[in-house]
Amino acid sequence: MPVNPLTDNTYITNAQRPLKEWHLSDFEIGRPLGKGKFGRVYMVRTKEEPKFVLALKTLYKDEIIQGRVEKQIRREIEIQQNLRHPNVLRLYGYFHDANRIFLMLEFAGKGELYRPLSRAGRFTERRSARYIAQMADALSYLHAKHVIHRDIKPENLLLGLNGELKIADFGWSVHAPSNRRTTICGTCDYLPPEMVEHKQHDEKVDLWALGVLSYEFLCGKPPFEEPDQQATYRRIKEVRYSFPTYVSPEAKDFISRLLQYEPPKRMPLSEVLVHPWLEKYRHRGSQGAPKASSS
Ligand code: AMP
Repeated sequence: MPVNPLTDNTYITNAQRPLKEWHLSDFEIGRPLGKGKFGRVYMVRTKEEPKFVLALKTLYKDEIIQGRVEKQIRREIEIQQNLRHPNVLRLYGYFHDANRIFLMLEFAGKGELYRPLSRAGRFTERRSARYIAQMADALSYLHAKHVIHRDIKPENLLLGLNGELKIADFGWSVHAPSNRRTTICGTCDYLPPEMVEHKQHDEKVDLWALGVLSYEFLCGKPPFEEPDQQATYRRIKEVRYSFPTYVSPEAKDFISRLLQYEPPKRMPLSEVLVHPWLEKYRHRGSQGAPKASSS
C-alpha cells in the first residue's frame, strides 16, 4: 500500500490538530477542475513522494466575508474533516494565506454526476438503483453521526475514478439537534414540505431528498418541477407528482415510500437499504458482477 502523505503522520490520533502544516508551495498545481461560487478547484499533487493527487479548492477570504458565509464554511470544514466513508468526499485538511483558504479534498476523478445525467437525459433503473444504494449507505453513516446533509441534489454529487458516488458540499449540513433548523436552505426542487412550510425539521429531510433524487435519476427531472417556485412549493405541499409509464413498480414503491408528507411516515434508511428495488441491482462485492439470478 502506498503511503498517503495527507493522512499518514498528518494527525495526532486523539486531537484533531494536524502535525504537518501545509502550504501552497507543497503542491504542483495541475488543471482547473471547476469553478465554484467562492473560487476555483484545481487538480494538484504533492511534491513529496509518492506525489499524492488531490483536489485543492480555493476560497477567497474577502468574498467569504462579503457573502457572509464564514460560519457556513467553518461548519463545512468542521463537519467534513471528521467524516470517513467511501461515498463521502474526504476533506484531508486545510490551510490559508493572506487572501485565500485552501481545502485539501479527495480527488473525484470522474467529476460531477450532473454531467452524465444531463448528457443521458435519465439513467437506467440499474444505474439509478446503484447510485441510490450508495447514497443510502452514506446517509446511514452521516445520520449515525448526527449529521444531516440538507442539500442533496445531483449538483452536489461527484464520481470517483471507479464511478463510485461521492457526496460533496457540506455547506448546508448541520449537526443535529440544532435550535436553528427553521431556515430555508437547499434547492427548491428538493425541499421537503416541512421546510417549505417553515416547520422544524430533522434528518428525515434527507429521506425526502433521496426520493426526489431517485425520481430525477429515473425520469430526468425532479417530481415537483414547475417554471416558478411558488407552483413548485404548492406541489410539494400537496405531494402531487406522477410517474412516467416506463418506471418499474419496485422503483415507484421505493419513491412513494420516501415522498411522504409526514416525516415519521418516510421509509427509514434501514428499510431503504434492503428495499426490493435496490436488492434487485445490488453488486456482489464492491465493483463485482451483478447477481446471476437477477436481471
Ligand atoms: P465547488 O466550488 O465545490 O462547487 O466546485 C466547483 C467544481 O469543481 C465542481 O462543480 C466540480 O466540477 C469541481 N470539483 C470540486 N471538487 C472536486 C473534487 N474533489 N474532485 C474533482 N472535481 C471537483
